Amino acid sequence: MPIPAPDRTRPLRFDYDEPQRALLVEWADGTVHRIPFPVLRRACPCAVCAGEMGSPGRFAAGPELGAGEDDLADIGLVGAYGLNAVWGDGHSTGIYTFERLRELGERAGVA
Ligand SMILES: [Zn+2]
Repeated sequence: MPIPAPDRTRPLRFDYDEPQRALLVEWADGTVHRIPFPVLRRACPCAVCAGEMGSPGRFAAGPELGAGEDDLADIGLVGAYGLNAVWGDGHSTGIYTFERLRELGERAGVA
């Protein structure tokens, strides 16, 4: 039996709010967060976007988003701990842990 994750970082449901361009996340503790696509895109934790080994990330110098960069094209679960996002420009290397997603949701606000 796997050890159940705490409810606050256990997503029950993901959904798209296309008109508002936001990702909806329903958590097991009953909270529903609405994370705007641009917020999610800028928070991409991959090495290119976030930077690594002292190298600045994608948004360090040029914070403007290009065409398609913040169009969420697809999402997929990564094991039992994270969410992978595929963006309109083909970028798909970011894996958002549920802890990270919860943080982003807390900051973005309740749906
Ligand atoms: Zn990235």
